[in-house]
Amino acid sequence: MTNQYVKKVLVVGGGISGLSAAIALNKIGIEVEIAEKELEWNVYGVGIIQPPNALRALNEIGLADACMEQGTSYPGFDYYTGQGHFLFHTASPTIVGYPGVNGISRRQLHNILFEAVESTDTKIYMGTTVNTIENKENGVKVALNNGITATYDLVIGSDGANSKVRTLLFGEIEQRYSGQGVWRYNLPRPKEIDKGLFYYGKDAKAGLVPMSDDLMYLLVTTNEPGNPKFPNNQLHNLLKERMTEFGGIIAGIAKQIVDPSEVVYRPIFTHLMKSPWYKGNVLLVGDAAHGTAPHLGQGASIAIEDVVVLADILKHNLPVQETMEAFMEKRFERCKMIVENSDQLVEWELLTSAGRMTEKVNVGEFLKMTLEKMNEPFLSELNV
Ligand SMILES: Cc1cc2nc3c(=O)[nH]c(=O)nc-3n(C[C@H](O)[C@H](O)[C@H](O)COP(=O)(O)OP(=O)(O)OC[C@H]3O[C@@H](n4cnc5c(N)ncnc54)[C@H](O)[C@@H]3O)c2cc1C
Repeated sequence: MTNQYVKKVLVVGGGISGLSAAIALNKIGIEVEIAEKELEWNVYGVGIIQPPNALRALNEIGLADACMEQGTSYPGFDYYTGQGHFLFHTASPTIVGYPGVNGISRRQLHNILFEAVESTDTKIYMGTTVNTIENKENGVKVALNNGITATYDLVIGSDGANSKVRTLLFGEIEQRYSGQGVWRYNLPRPKEIDKGLFYYGKDAKAGLVPMSDDLMYLLVTTNEPGNPKFPNNQLHNLLKERMTEFGGIIAGIAKQIVDPSEVVYRPIFTHLMKSPWYKGNVLLVGDAAHGTAPHLGQGASIAIEDVVVLADILKHNLPVQETMEAFMEKRFERCKMIVENSDQLVEWELLTSAGRMTEKVNVGEFLKMTLEKMNEPFLSELNV
């Protein structure tokens, strides 16, 4: 059913959640404009893990097949000690017909989303951000920095962890530095790496993640007290230094890390906006609302879920405030669980490294339980 209350939407931020929002809303007949602050798309080349719930959400917007075709699917993850002793396996089930996990490069994912947006009438303003946002009786009045002022029925803040929309609406919020950083590097994928592999060292965790038939990426999560800044031309050596505690395959890979410009380092910050994530007719989605540590590979997955759920609720043609309330009802607890469980994994890794891990925990069971919850239905009926 066409929504009589929401006909025209501004999406601020053309990342994974913003492009997905444009596709999802177009599908239900809503006109969308996107304001993206970068003049050109600037997506780094390492890979992204798409667990079953990401594929299910992408299927809702018609893009799971393209991701599977351009990426590579694998059945789950094996976990080992830093010296290569097997610990446990997390299997990823087939849901909505897509087997296991898909690995894909971020650029390819972006291209798939962007091409889908381009095939619609969505207007994209590149190099553009919002200057002001005001909730008015007849909608949201927005002044863009390109001189355009317009009124929209709904504004979606999908402008990432440092969201300007969020700051304009809610003021500054605290993003917690987790104490860890992630290093990533693309490598040729040997044939025998047919699933994701993780190795738990004492001070670091290393992973090998397939992202196409012949490419994989190395990721190394390390403790970085005080959030240090590193010189760009030393990133390769710094990464290798952090891999010295590993044996076996990870030790063998270290010699392939030669180009500092190919190392992608990110400190891990996390945050969870208190509910509600909206004010009037302006709603935050994706990292703008919930920034999670990457330990469950879920940040982009729940960002895509957010906008698929929003589009699903909009089909019910409710007044905007009821749409917003229904959205929070469906999204808050699910995203909170992911942010908190990812924070929990970070904390256990930090305690282990400091030799202060007193609790007896079964990380494998915790991971399996969390991933099972993510595979539960997320588009159940609304109580309307
Ligand atoms: C190390 C690491 C590994 C990760 N691995 C995975 C993984 O394997 N699987 C997974 O699901 N998730 C993963 N994530 C999380 C995932 O990358 C994010 O959750 C996802 O990118 C969020 O999408 P988003 O669209 O909300 O924000 P973003 O991807 O940050 O996009 C925001 C967009 O808004 C634009 N923008 C910013 N400010 C403004 C502004 N003021 N005005 C207009 N536009 C603006 C930006 O240029 C950008 O295009 C990982 C994250 C990290 C840090």
